[in-house]
Amino acid sequence: MDTPTSQHNERPVEHVAVAIDLTKSYGRGDGTVHALRGVSATFSRGQFTAIMGPSGSGKSTFLHCLAGLDTVTSGSVVIGDVDLTKLSRTELTKLRRDRLGFVFQSFNLLPMLTAEENIRLTDRLGGRRAEAGWFDTIVNALGLRARLRHRPAELSGGQQQRVAVARALLTRPEVLFADEPTGNLDSSTGTEVLGFLRTAVDTHRQTVIMVTHDPVAAAYADRVLFLADGRIVDELAAPTNDLVHARMRQMEG
Ligand code: ADP
Repeated sequence: MDTPTSQHNERPVEHVAVAIDLTKSYGRGDGTVHALRGVSATFSRGQFTAIMGPSGSGKSTFLHCLAGLDTVTSGSVVIGDVDLTKLSRTELTKLRRDRLGFVFQSFNLLPMLTAEENIRLTDRLGGRRAEAGWFDTIVNALGLRARLRHRPAELSGGQQQRVAVARALLTRPEVLFADEPTGNLDSSTGTEVLGFLRTAVDTHRQTVIMVTHDPVAAAYADRVLFLADGRIVDELAAPTNDLVHARMRQMEG
């Protein structure tokens, strides 16, 4: 039997994250909000996926359920060969720490630690040990070498987000989850951060799943999943800014 291969290279496709018929409801009775209404999706190694959709369509809920930051109402999330929905809280915390990476809109750096200490934090907390040389590779690629002794308050927003990206990548996570990573950045700084995520995908086969409302950011991805009212309603491969804009106008129309 033929082994399936991705479009861009001849390596076998490896599914690193799979969502199966996810539902997520908040509240009860008349006030119940159905944030996810049966979402299934597959994420392959080395694939950069953007998740888009109108405000309230369920993007953050989907990302948080995939990343084990929120519980699901029904359905499964499989990371590698582990079903997150079957894990205890302790097992889930350990899996998140050892195998997943996170970048948020608000950077989430510890203010009393230097940039280097923030980057090494997951390592220090007992996650997967970073390989020798990988710290230097990331720090150099993100242009942070001269900033390692600075505390977050002494760094620009873009530099803080680059520190957050470096921290998230240091343990070589199976999946990097990013929730509006450029939401607090000006466009040129946002471009740098997105460019680095793209490089991590192309050079190191990093898997990235990113929520964004910005078509420019989505155009860095290999594909865009569009959510509306808690469902995946469309998918776009090889997105460009124009194609994403057009698709969003259609959805709003
Ligand atoms: P998006 O990220 O696309 O803006 P969200 O995933 O944040 O959408 O929200 C999807 C729906 O779930 C919205 O109707 C939102 O109000 C609701 N929701 C999200 N989080 C909660 C919560 N903690 N409690 C109640 N409702 C929530």
